[in-house]
Amino acid sequence: MTRVFNFSAGPAILPEPVLLRAQQELPDWQGLGMSVMEVSHRGKPFVAAAEKAEADLRKLMRIPDDYRVLFLQGGATLQFAMVPMNLAAGGARVDYINTGSWSKKAIKEAQGLCQVNVAADAGAPYANIPERAEWRTDPDAAYLHYTPNETIGGVEFHYVPDTGGVPLVADMSSTILSRPVDVSQFGLIYAGAQKNIGPAGLTLVIVRDELLARSPESLPQMLSYRALAESQSMLNTPPTFAWYIAGLVFEWIIEQGGLAAMAGRNYRKAARLYNAIDSSAFYTAPVDEDCRSWMNVPFTLARPELDGQFVSEAEAAGLTHLKGHRSVGGMRASLYNAMPDAGVDALIAFMAEFERRHG
Ligand SMILES: *Cc1c(COP(=O)(O)O)cnc(C)c1O
Repeated sequence: MTRVFNFSAGPAILPEPVLLRAQQELPDWQGLGMSVMEVSHRGKPFVAAAEKAEADLRKLMRIPDDYRVLFLQGGATLQFAMVPMNLAAGGARVDYINTGSWSKKAIKEAQGLCQVNVAADAGAPYANIPERAEWRTDPDAAYLHYTPNETIGGVEFHYVPDTGGVPLVADMSSTILSRPVDVSQFGLIYAGAQKNIGPAGLTLVIVRDELLARSPESLPQMLSYRALAESQSMLNTPPTFAWYIAGLVFEWIIEQGGLAAMAGRNYRKAARLYNAIDSSAFYTAPVDEDCRSWMNVPFTLARPELDGQFVSEAEAAGLTHLKGHRSVGGMRASLYNAMPDAGVDALIAFMAEFERRHG
């Protein structure tokens, strides 16, 4: 078996022990003589596995009892619409903070559904976070939406913004489970699974109970947080395999020591890579130091004409998916929970060697 160090932003690297366990359990899950993909989502074995996954997530994130956890489909992108459809029905006013590509997509989708006030906009090249004191927020907004980690630009909030009682909505797709968060500070958290949770096809939503009352009766069931919560995310067939793998990932994180241990490791991995970039004359990290992402590290080469060569030589060395997003160029190394220290070491060594030859 040859495994590469996969630096993809998503779908992304999964923990090797999780893959091996899934492989081992695949043909005959729990002695049922079939795989988890082949069993009824309403049967006892699957329901028990689904409940265990939720219980483990609740334990990991210390999710308070007055929050519901939903296991949905449609990706984070469907949440761009479901959040305003459920929480700002009837054209209510909402606040958005724009810190880059994903914020912009969330804003664009909400604009067709409610009254959007962009309370702060970092502006191109989206390499910083506007000071909290400069945000023009509305104390009566139905919610305030922000993107704690901009996966493409590599801009991350290292604090949770105070909203003065307005429900805070966070697109945590690429930072969930990377460090502890105080869930009680949020009205709603959502995340596509394929960055730091599990396979594509699953979307997590963590929502405060009282907000479910806002879902209008007129919404189609599959778009209604309330209807989805009432059915334990089983209005229809849920993405059973992705839910199962997510459960294995939660178990793996618990074994690793939980989110505090993840945070320590993630901070160190990112710090070592930024340090290597900052101490070289050949590589540059474009994001302001106080909001650099621990999860997605963009960097550029002093000679952009070598980008293609960097990517292909890295790939030959077993370091894959380092090409930056098509909208930004340069490189991006994603360092999710499953990226081992050895992957970061190998990347840093490769970068030094590439600089030595071309710098
Ligand atoms: C990947 C990503 C999305 C889009 O997720 P899909 O599951 O593909 O819809 C949205 N927001 C952020 C922050 C992301 O990283």
